[in-house]
Amino acid sequence: AVTVVLALRGIARTFVQGSRRLEILRGCDLEVGRGEVVGLLGPSGSGKSTLLHVSGLLERPDGGEVEIAGQPCGRLADEARTRIRRVQLGFVYQFHYLMAEFTARENVMIPQMIAGLPRQVSRERADRLLGELGLSARADHRPAQLSGGEQQRVAIARAMANRPALILADEPTGNLDPGTAEQVFGSILDVVRNSGTAALIATHNGELAGRMDRTTRLEDGHLVPVA
Ligand code: ADP
Ligand code: MG
Repeated sequence: AVTVVLALRGIARTFVQGSRRLEILRGCDLEVGRGEVVGLLGPSGSGKSTLLHVSGLLERPDGGEVEIAGQPCGRLADEARTRIRRVQLGFVYQFHYLMAEFTARENVMIPQMIAGLPRQVSRERADRLLGELGLSARADHRPAQLSGGEQQRVAIARAMANRPALILADEPTGNLDPGTAEQVFGSILDVVRNSGTAALIATHNGELAGRMDRTTRLEDGHLVPVA
Protein backbone atom coordinates (compact mmCIF):
# COMPACT_ATOMS: atom_id res chain seq x y z
CA ALA A 1 0.00 0.00 0.00
CA VAL A 2 1.17 3.51 -0.75
CA THR A 3 1.87 5.41 2.43
CA VAL A 4 3.13 8.70 0.98
CA VAL A 5 0.39 10.47 -0.98
CA LEU A 6 2.40 13.59 -1.81
CA ALA A 7 6.16 13.88 -2.14
CA LEU A 8 7.90 17.07 -3.20
CA ARG A 9 11.57 16.66 -4.03
CA GLY A 10 13.66 19.75 -4.62
CA ILE A 11 10.82 21.78 -6.10
CA ALA A 12 11.99 25.03 -7.72
CA ARG A 13 9.84 27.72 -9.32
CA THR A 14 11.06 31.02 -10.71
CA PHE A 15 8.95 33.78 -12.22
CA VAL A 16 10.48 36.21 -14.68
CA GLN A 17 9.10 39.73 -14.60
CA GLY A 18 10.85 41.93 -17.13
CA SER A 19 14.52 41.80 -16.20
CA ARG A 20 13.77 40.49 -12.70
CA ARG A 21 13.86 36.84 -11.71
CA LEU A 22 11.73 35.98 -8.71
CA GLU A 23 13.00 32.73 -7.21
CA ILE A 24 9.90 31.87 -5.24
CA LEU A 25 10.57 28.18 -4.55
CA ARG A 26 14.25 27.25 -4.24
CA GLY A 27 14.21 23.56 -3.47
CA CYS A 28 11.19 22.50 -1.44
CA ASP A 29 11.04 19.02 0.09
CA LEU A 30 7.96 17.55 1.74
CA GLU A 31 6.23 14.22 2.30
CA VAL A 32 2.59 13.99 3.29
CA GLY A 33 1.56 10.55 4.53
CA ARG A 34 -1.78 8.84 4.04
CA GLY A 35 -4.39 10.52 6.23
CA GLU A 36 -1.98 13.15 7.48
CA VAL A 37 -3.15 16.77 7.84
CA VAL A 38 -0.30 19.21 7.24
CA GLY A 39 -0.42 22.99 7.60
CA LEU A 40 1.45 25.21 5.15
CA LEU A 41 2.41 28.51 6.74
CA GLY A 42 4.12 31.58 5.37
CA PRO A 43 3.40 35.27 4.90
CA SER A 44 1.56 36.62 1.89
CA GLY A 45 3.80 36.38 -1.17
CA SER A 46 5.99 33.60 0.23
CA GLY A 47 4.81 31.11 -2.40
CA LYS A 48 2.09 29.04 -0.68
CA SER A 49 -0.29 29.18 -3.64
CA THR A 50 2.54 28.44 -6.05
CA LEU A 51 3.52 25.40 -4.00
CA LEU A 52 -0.09 24.15 -3.94
CA HIS A 53 -0.48 24.67 -7.71
CA VAL A 54 2.69 22.68 -8.34
CA SER A 55 1.62 19.98 -5.85
CA GLY A 56 -1.79 19.76 -7.54
CA LEU A 57 -0.26 19.35 -11.01
CA LEU A 58 -1.82 22.64 -12.13
CA GLU A 59 1.64 24.09 -12.85
CA ARG A 60 4.92 22.43 -13.67
CA PRO A 61 7.94 23.28 -11.54
CA ASP A 62 11.18 24.54 -13.10
CA GLY A 63 13.08 21.91 -11.13
CA GLY A 64 12.41 18.95 -8.88
CA GLU A 65 9.76 16.25 -8.89
CA VAL A 66 6.21 15.86 -7.61
CA GLU A 67 5.03 12.36 -6.74
CA ILE A 68 1.37 11.61 -6.15
CA ALA A 69 0.71 8.26 -4.44
CA GLY A 70 4.14 7.08 -5.51
CA GLN A 71 3.80 8.16 -9.14
CA PRO A 72 6.40 10.66 -10.39
CA CYS A 73 4.45 13.21 -12.44
CA GLY A 74 7.09 15.39 -14.09
CA ARG A 75 7.43 13.39 -17.29
CA LEU A 76 3.73 12.69 -17.70
CA ALA A 77 1.73 14.28 -20.49
CA ASP A 78 -1.01 16.75 -19.59
CA GLU A 79 -3.79 14.16 -20.06
CA ALA A 80 -2.20 11.78 -17.58
CA ARG A 81 -1.68 14.61 -15.12
CA THR A 82 -5.33 15.63 -15.49
CA ARG A 83 -6.42 12.06 -14.79
CA ILE A 84 -4.32 11.89 -11.61
CA ARG A 85 -5.75 15.24 -10.56
CA ARG A 86 -9.32 14.01 -11.04
CA VAL A 87 -8.84 10.67 -9.30
CA GLN A 88 -6.43 11.48 -6.49
CA LEU A 89 -6.82 15.16 -5.64
CA GLY A 90 -9.44 17.54 -4.29
CA PHE A 91 -9.07 21.32 -4.25
CA VAL A 92 -10.50 23.99 -1.97
CA TYR A 93 -9.82 27.67 -2.56
CA GLN A 94 -10.47 30.89 -0.67
CA PHE A 95 -13.47 31.51 -2.95
CA HIS A 96 -15.97 28.65 -3.27
CA TYR A 97 -16.32 28.54 -7.11
CA LEU A 98 -19.65 26.72 -6.77
CA MET A 99 -21.89 26.72 -9.84
CA ALA A 100 -24.57 29.31 -9.16
CA GLU A 101 -27.39 27.65 -11.12
CA PHE A 102 -27.08 24.31 -9.29
CA THR A 103 -28.07 23.32 -5.75
CA ALA A 104 -25.58 22.37 -3.06
CA ARG A 105 -26.38 18.68 -3.66
CA GLU A 106 -25.93 19.02 -7.41
CA ASN A 107 -22.63 20.82 -6.95
CA VAL A 108 -21.38 17.78 -5.01
CA MET A 109 -22.96 15.26 -7.43
CA ILE A 110 -21.56 16.72 -10.64
CA PRO A 111 -17.88 15.76 -10.18
CA GLN A 112 -18.99 12.21 -9.34
CA MET A 113 -21.18 11.96 -12.43
CA ILE A 114 -18.33 13.33 -14.56
CA ALA A 115 -16.22 10.51 -13.07
CA GLY A 116 -18.86 8.05 -14.31
CA LEU A 117 -20.80 7.23 -11.14
CA PRO A 118 -24.54 6.65 -11.44
CA ARG A 119 -26.84 9.48 -10.44
CA GLN A 120 -28.25 7.64 -7.41
CA VAL A 121 -24.81 6.74 -6.04
CA SER A 122 -23.65 10.33 -6.55
CA ARG A 123 -26.72 11.63 -4.80
CA GLU A 124 -26.29 9.37 -1.78
CA ARG A 125 -22.62 10.29 -1.45
CA ALA A 126 -23.45 14.00 -1.79
CA ASP A 127 -26.11 13.79 0.90
CA ARG A 128 -23.80 11.88 3.23
CA LEU A 129 -21.03 14.46 2.83
CA LEU A 130 -23.39 17.40 3.21
CA GLY A 131 -24.76 15.72 6.35
CA GLU A 132 -21.26 15.31 7.79
CA LEU A 133 -20.72 19.01 7.18
CA GLY A 134 -23.97 19.96 8.92
CA LEU A 135 -25.72 20.97 5.69
CA SER A 136 -28.53 18.41 5.42
CA ALA A 137 -31.13 21.17 5.56
CA ARG A 138 -29.32 23.13 2.84
CA ALA A 139 -28.94 20.44 0.16
CA ASP A 140 -31.62 21.96 -2.09
CA HIS A 141 -30.33 25.53 -1.78
CA ARG A 142 -28.33 27.34 -4.41
CA PRO A 143 -25.05 29.03 -3.48
CA ALA A 144 -26.62 32.50 -3.36
CA GLN A 145 -29.02 31.25 -0.67
CA LEU A 146 -26.16 30.11 1.56
CA SER A 147 -23.93 32.00 3.99
CA GLY A 148 -20.20 32.31 3.29
CA GLY A 149 -19.41 29.55 5.76
CA GLU A 150 -22.05 27.26 4.24
CA GLN A 151 -20.76 27.93 0.72
CA GLN A 152 -17.28 26.95 1.85
CA ARG A 153 -18.63 23.75 3.45
CA VAL A 154 -20.28 22.80 0.16
CA ALA A 155 -16.98 23.46 -1.62
CA ILE A 156 -15.32 21.07 0.86
CA ALA A 157 -17.98 18.41 0.21
CA ARG A 158 -17.40 18.82 -3.53
CA ALA A 159 -13.63 18.47 -3.09
CA MET A 160 -14.23 15.22 -1.13
CA ALA A 161 -16.83 13.88 -3.57
CA ASN A 162 -14.59 11.48 -5.48
CA ARG A 163 -12.76 10.20 -2.39
CA PRO A 164 -9.42 11.84 -3.16
CA ALA A 165 -6.24 10.64 -1.49
CA LEU A 166 -5.21 14.25 -0.88
CA ILE A 167 -6.98 17.57 -0.37
CA LEU A 168 -5.09 20.73 -1.30
CA ALA A 169 -6.63 23.77 0.36
CA ASP A 170 -5.46 27.34 -0.26
CA GLU A 171 -6.49 29.55 2.68
CA PRO A 172 -9.92 27.87 2.71
CA THR A 173 -11.22 30.07 5.52
CA GLY A 174 -9.43 33.26 4.50
CA ASN A 175 -12.62 35.05 3.44
CA LEU A 176 -14.60 34.25 6.58
CA ASP A 177 -14.96 36.14 9.84
CA PRO A 178 -12.88 34.60 12.66
CA GLY A 179 -15.73 32.74 14.37
CA THR A 180 -17.01 31.22 11.12
CA ALA A 181 -13.46 30.45 10.00
CA GLU A 182 -12.90 28.53 13.21
CA GLN A 183 -16.07 26.44 12.67
CA VAL A 184 -15.48 25.78 8.99
CA PHE A 185 -11.92 24.83 9.74
CA GLY A 186 -13.16 22.33 12.32
CA SER A 187 -15.50 20.88 9.69
CA ILE A 188 -12.64 20.44 7.24
CA LEU A 189 -10.59 18.61 9.84
CA ASP A 190 -13.53 16.37 10.81
CA VAL A 191 -14.50 15.35 7.29
CA VAL A 192 -10.90 14.81 6.23
CA ARG A 193 -10.08 12.75 9.32
CA ASN A 194 -13.30 10.69 9.08
CA SER A 195 -12.43 9.67 5.55
CA GLY A 196 -8.70 9.08 6.02
CA THR A 197 -7.89 11.65 3.35
CA ALA A 198 -4.60 13.52 3.64
CA ALA A 199 -4.58 17.31 3.41
CA LEU A 200 -2.13 20.11 2.80
CA ILE A 201 -3.75 23.33 3.98
CA ALA A 202 -2.25 26.78 3.46
CA THR A 203 -3.14 29.32 6.12
CA HIS A 204 -1.56 32.31 7.73
CA ASN A 205 -3.64 31.79 10.83
CA GLY A 206 -1.30 30.29 13.42
CA GLU A 207 -4.18 29.26 15.70
CA LEU A 208 -5.73 27.13 12.98
CA ALA A 209 -2.31 25.74 12.10
CA GLY A 210 -2.00 24.44 15.65
CA ARG A 211 -4.91 22.05 15.07
CA MET A 212 -3.20 20.14 12.28
CA ASP A 213 -1.01 17.07 12.71
CA ARG A 214 2.06 19.08 11.78
CA THR A 215 3.00 22.33 10.07
CA THR A 216 5.69 23.44 7.70
CA ARG A 217 6.64 27.02 6.86
CA LEU A 218 7.84 28.60 3.63
CA GLU A 219 10.94 30.66 4.36
CA ASP A 220 13.09 32.13 1.58
CA GLY A 221 11.84 29.52 -0.85
CA HIS A 222 12.45 26.52 1.41
CA LEU A 223 10.09 24.47 3.56
CA VAL A 224 11.10 24.50 7.21
CA PRO A 225 9.37 22.26 9.76
CA VAL A 226 7.56 24.16 12.52
CA ALA A 227 8.38 22.83 15.96
P1 ADP B 1 1.27 33.30 -1.37
O1 ADP B 1 0.20 32.34 -1.79
O2 ADP B 1 2.13 32.75 -0.25
O3 ADP B 1 0.74 34.64 -1.03
P2 ADP B 1 2.05 33.18 -4.16
O4 ADP B 1 2.49 31.78 -4.45
O5 ADP B 1 0.71 33.58 -4.63
O6 ADP B 1 2.27 33.49 -2.61
O7 ADP B 1 3.08 34.19 -4.84
C1 ADP B 1 4.46 34.19 -4.49
C2 ADP B 1 5.15 35.25 -5.31
O8 ADP B 1 5.20 34.84 -6.66
C3 ADP B 1 4.48 36.62 -5.29
O9 ADP B 1 5.48 37.60 -5.24
C4 ADP B 1 3.75 36.65 -6.60
O10 ADP B 1 3.61 37.97 -7.05
C5 ADP B 1 4.64 35.84 -7.49
N1 ADP B 1 3.91 35.18 -8.57
C6 ADP B 1 2.97 34.21 -8.41
N2 ADP B 1 2.51 33.79 -9.61
C7 ADP B 1 3.16 34.52 -10.55
C8 ADP B 1 3.14 34.55 -11.98
N3 ADP B 1 2.34 33.72 -12.69
N4 ADP B 1 3.95 35.43 -12.60
C9 ADP B 1 4.78 36.24 -11.90
N5 ADP B 1 4.86 36.25 -10.56
C10 ADP B 1 4.05 35.40 -9.88
MG1 MG C 1 -1.85 32.52 -1.86
